[in-house]
Amino acid sequence: MEAFTSTPPAWTEKAIHAREFSCPTCHSSPMKAKSVWINRRAPVYTQENRRKWQEFYHCHCGCAWWAWSADRPPSELGERIYLSQEDFL
Ligand SMILES: [Zn+2]
Repeated sequence: MEAFTSTPPAWTEKAIHAREFSCPTCHSSPMKAKSVWINRRAPVYTQENRRKWQEFYHCHCGCAWWAWSADRPPSELGERIYLSQEDFL
């Protein structure tokens, strides 16, 4: 699955940091993104000593954006994409 490859897809290079957990251009949900990539190689520790990492989304509108995993609304994406998360928590 592309989301868990170790090499960043080319589209992540132009990703912009989204303040909301949605596309900064068209405000679409990340559920509608055509590609997802998670930078699991470079987790950052939060003040609570939990890890967070960059999640990149390539929106169907063409915009690429990213946000911290810790900022993802828990109910937004469900477990479908993130089933493999446990093995790097
Ligand atoms: Zn968009």
